[in-house]
Amino acid sequence: MSDVVVLGSGFAGLWAALGAARRVDELGATDFAITVLSSQPYHDIRVRNYEADLTPCRIPLTEVLDPVGIQHLTADVTAIDPASHTVTSSAGPHTYDRLVVALGSQVVKPDIPGLKEFGFDVDTYDGALRLQRHLAGLARSAATTSASTAVVVGAGLTGIETACELPSRLASLFPDTAPRVVLVDRNPHVGSDMGASARPVIEAALDTLGVQTRLGVGVTAVDADGVTLSTGEVLPTSTVVWCAGMRANPLTADLGVPRDRLGRLPVDDYLRVIGVADIFAAGDVASARMDDAHLSVMSCQHGRPMGRYAGYNVISDLLDEPLLSLRIPWYVTVLDLGPAGAVYTEGWDRHVVASGAEAKATKMTINGRRIYPPLNGDRDAILAAAAPTLQTRPSAEG
Ligand SMILES: Cc1cc2nc3c(=O)[nH]c(=O)nc-3n(C[C@H](O)[C@H](O)[C@H](O)COP(=O)(O)OP(=O)(O)OC[C@H]3O[C@@H](n4cnc5c(N)ncnc54)[C@H](O)[C@@H]3O)c2cc1C
Repeated sequence: MSDVVVLGSGFAGLWAALGAARRVDELGATDFAITVLSSQPYHDIRVRNYEADLTPCRIPLTEVLDPVGIQHLTADVTAIDPASHTVTSSAGPHTYDRLVVALGSQVVKPDIPGLKEFGFDVDTYDGALRLQRHLAGLARSAATTSASTAVVVGAGLTGIETACELPSRLASLFPDTAPRVVLVDRNPHVGSDMGASARPVIEAALDTLGVQTRLGVGVTAVDADGVTLSTGEVLPTSTVVWCAGMRANPLTADLGVPRDRLGRLPVDDYLRVIGVADIFAAGDVASARMDDAHLSVMSCQHGRPMGRYAGYNVISDLLDEPLLSLRIPWYVTVLDLGPAGAVYTEGWDRHVVASGAEAKATKMTINGRRIYPPLNGDRDAILAAAAPTLQTRPSAEG
């Protein structure tokens, strides 16, 4: 019996496990056990954590993994030992013949006074739920300026999506006051990663939604009633949402290879960790070449195909079958701008190809359909969706 262990059940982990099961099925292979180890018994649609309704963001693993016979164990992984082919988790030790590391990334909360105690995030489902409950709790208390004000720190993609969603969320919770949302960033511009083409669209959306900005400034302290900026300004708020800075899961350090500045593991075109035998990596923990000039970006856009290919290759590798290399010839970004629509850019230079309602239709198709596994329990449909093929660019149709 060969043991394939997949760590994580996010966009990379789920699809790696399904990709492996599909390859086993395709080869008619026997004597394989595929096990997913994850801290949650869910496949979380993490990209939707900024939305007001979290109901569609959590899929029980039983719905997707049980129909194809993949075991899953809810446990926190605490160590990976490549020398002994052993993973340690809260459920005990697990040995593997091949391992896929897909433990994702985490928002980094720096050591700013009060941030860990009073700050919120939308990094995980639990974080987003905590924010949701906090806002609902504020709405039940006496309306104050602090209660109806939210400060979002980090004007990158996650921060912009969160800031654009909050005015309508606050308006429905505080109908008798004028809600205020402020977006803070150290950079002199919003959406620095989105480039010059998208910036005017983002700025216009923030303006339409009444989102204020404080740019070129940092946060020096957070408490229950406000946030202090590096300029000395104090913004009265009960809600600080931290969206600045992502790092790969720190367990990547256990593999003992040099990692990039985001803590990611270098992988080859087959998703094998360079310099470590029998370990593959996919998603936010891995840095893979997407074309001759560009490395993967922490995104579900890259994480899902990396997972499918890693799953295919891990089984092929065990059976001495040819591996498939992953190269993705296109790159897009579709950023939600809340009630102001969305902005859709193409290419690594991110030039805008659609905005407003047209881009929003594509974003809704991505968030509501494209990135979901089949949820009908149909084994064949689930395996087919895990094929190592590339999707075409997203559109409003799919
Ligand atoms: C609010 C928000 C909006 C986003 N919007 C977009 C977007 O529009 N487009 C886009 O492409 N990307 C977006 N992203 C980024 C995207 O969500 C990530 O790139 C993607 O989730 C990475 O997939 P992953 O499988 O590598 O990691 P994850 O999806 O984070 O999955 C990691 C898995 O590992 C598990 N895990 C972690 N630590 C342990 C442990 N110690 N033990 C056991 N299990 C563990 C977790 O439970 C989880 O199952 C967004 C992210 C956020 C937070």
